Amino acid sequence: MLDGVNEREAVFARAATILAHDERFSGDPVVPPIFQTSLFTFASYRDMEDAFAGRVRRPIYSRGDNPTVRHFEERLAALEGAEAARAFSSGMGAISATVLAFAGAGSRVVAVRHVYPDTYRLFQQLCRRLSISVDYVDGADADAVAAALPGASLLYLESPTSMVFEVQDLERIATLARAAGVVTIIDNSWATPLFQQPLRHGIDLVLHSASKYIGGHSDTVAGIVAGSAALVGRINAETYSYLGAKLSPFEAWLLLRGLRTLPLRMRAHEKSAVTLAERLKGHPQVVAVHHPAFSNHPGRRTLLGFSGLFSFEVGEAIDIAALVDALRYFKLGVSWGGHESLAVPVQASMAQTPKLNAQVAFGVSPRTIRISVGHEDTEDLWADLARALDTARR
Ligand SMILES: *Cc1c(COP(=O)(O)O)cnc(C)c1O
Repeated sequence: MLDGVNEREAVFARAATILAHDERFSGDPVVPPIFQTSLFTFASYRDMEDAFAGRVRRPIYSRGDNPTVRHFEERLAALEGAEAARAFSSGMGAISATVLAFAGAGSRVVAVRHVYPDTYRLFQQLCRRLSISVDYVDGADADAVAAALPGASLLYLESPTSMVFEVQDLERIATLARAAGVVTIIDNSWATPLFQQPLRHGIDLVLHSASKYIGGHSDTVAGIVAGSAALVGRINAETYSYLGAKLSPFEAWLLLRGLRTLPLRMRAHEKSAVTLAERLKGHPQVVAVHHPAFSNHPGRRTLLGFSGLFSFEVGEAIDIAALVDALRYFKLGVSWGGHESLAVPVQASMAQTPKLNAQVAFGVSPRTIRISVGHEDTEDLWADLARALDTARR
């Protein structure tokens, strides 16, 4: 068994070669072409019948299969150590198609609290309408997770969670879920396949909003799910084609382009974000920093590194609107994982319908500000935060 540092270097080394080395298409174009086509024709009746019967695997129609999209799926599967992967037009497309492939009328889903806000809305609205019930548990408490499992069909994890970045003990929870016959799904967008590989720890399916670090350039919305051929096959058979949230070939091409620099980008995000998190922790106007680097929960063991997204809470002496308005490099904006630094004050989202508001439901402090640390110079970013904190003192 490798120790943490060696394991991390082994994952990066493998990923670097997978991503920089490409021999997929004949004629050896160093950048593969975009198959911008809706359909593929057949040379003969026999060819068409073989494809329809599944005797030959080949693309028929781009809602089902497209070579550029498949290339992206195979890359992601290789990075996650999965047999198969399926790409979608958004992270939510991947999440909804996956949840609905494994839950139906009368089934019960167990989810960790502090899931991504639109995942929460999916559970509260569409799932309820389809008579799928969802119970939320404190994912940091593996005993509480175990207690909720009997009778559930699905356990939905996100480690670390959205907005407060709480971690879960994936190995322990995967063992408990397997014993209870419950399928496990994790949203691994925060960590990327470089900083956490949940399938290796016994989780059944791993999904990503590829709009974040996988794309990495804030120019694409996309999603992906990876796991065993059997489970991904079930998503293909039950929901994928009918819900129709397929990825476009051009966006798959952009994602392949983004992926080539993933190892370089993640090391840079980590270095800068950890520096800023530590400095914020020591700042007199900051009352808490929510970052897995400061956690000693056993769930930290499966994290091989830290990405660039975390949050902090400011004291009552700070005017939050004035703080974010004073920021120059951190732009106000949702999403994260791109080259640019971004900030979201929770207070600004408090007015959204409380019934469907994950921050309200899970008790996130309105004094929380989430930041995504981009690729600007770390000292410039720190100067920006320090000056804004100064300006915003009431
Ligand atoms: C953004 C995000 C999603 C949703 O992904 P989209 O690509 O925006 O649909 C899911 N999970 C997490 C943790 C996210 O941050």
